[in-house]
Amino acid sequence: MSISEQIIIKKNISTDRLNLPEFAKHELEVDVLRLDKMHPVISGNKWFKLKNYLQDALQKKCHTLVTFGGAYSNHIVATACAAKTSGLQSIGIIRGEEPKNVSHTLQTAISYGMQLFFVSREDYKRKDEPDVLNISRRNISRPYIIPEGGAGIPGIKGSEEIFQWVEKNKYNHILCAIGTGTMYMGLANELENDQYITGIPVLKGMPDLLHQFKHQLGDPEKINYCRISCDYHFGGYAKKNEQLTQFMNRIYEKSGIPTDFVYTAKLFYAAVDLASKNYFPARNRVLLIHSGGLQGNGSLPPGTLNF
Ligand SMILES: *Cc1c(COP(=O)(O)O)cnc(C)c1O
Repeated sequence: MSISEQIIIKKNISTDRLNLPEFAKHELEVDVLRLDKMHPVISGNKWFKLKNYLQDALQKKCHTLVTFGGAYSNHIVATACAAKTSGLQSIGIIRGEEPKNVSHTLQTAISYGMQLFFVSREDYKRKDEPDVLNISRRNISRPYIIPEGGAGIPGIKGSEEIFQWVEKNKYNHILCAIGTGTMYMGLANELENDQYITGIPVLKGMPDLLHQFKHQLGDPEKINYCRISCDYHFGGYAKKNEQLTQFMNRIYEKSGIPTDFVYTAKLFYAAVDLASKNYFPARNRVLLIHSGGLQGNGSLPPGTLNF
């Protein structure tokens, strides 16, 4: 077991009932898998997506994790923290020019010793081309590259383990947020017979997701149980409005469950709205995956949230 495996406090994971009048009205039982309680920084799905990469990096005796993300990336912070606790160096290739005031997220990454390289949006798009990375590879001791968001087969495989932390056969329907879709595909691979999964993309304009995902699923037939609901991105990645932040406060008041405005608030909002639109048959049991990411709320103006 690696050092970082030990710091993840999996025993903190719980499944909590979310009682809301909208669910009661439609006779739904809705539970939340609290992956946010695993660890304050490497929380939620990020640990599951990183663990196989980390293990591989340690096995190959690489010294430095190199990965990619934007200014609000939970993956960047999680990688920085995982590297530090595993005795590795880390480098973050950040999309966009260096701002005058570095985001709360990136400050946290720096505090874990991550070295940041800011690249223009054009270069970032070309980040998989060797010459772009060479800029950042200069003087890097034994780099190990992790794709943006921990995407790829090792990330999907790691996400399959999420269900080990819940009695999944109790549920008719699973709901999770989608960034890269890595977690979604891992969960989809592990669905029981007649269990459905609906993903809520937090980015705008992600057409044909199911078509893309189909080819990455272990069993392509599972696609018949996979759904995507694209109407809950609130304008795009990390976009939000007052309706969303007020909703976050209401959820916290009713249940004591904190959500983040980039991912899980949009997921919970979708669950409530879909329930109101009779998306789930009555007496269905629904599981929401709380995939963590609470550090992102640090970029909201003080006083926005009641938690
Ligand atoms: C990164 C992240 C996601 C998205 O996961 P993908 O596997 O990229 O789809 C969802 N929720 C939270 C809290 C995240 O930090």
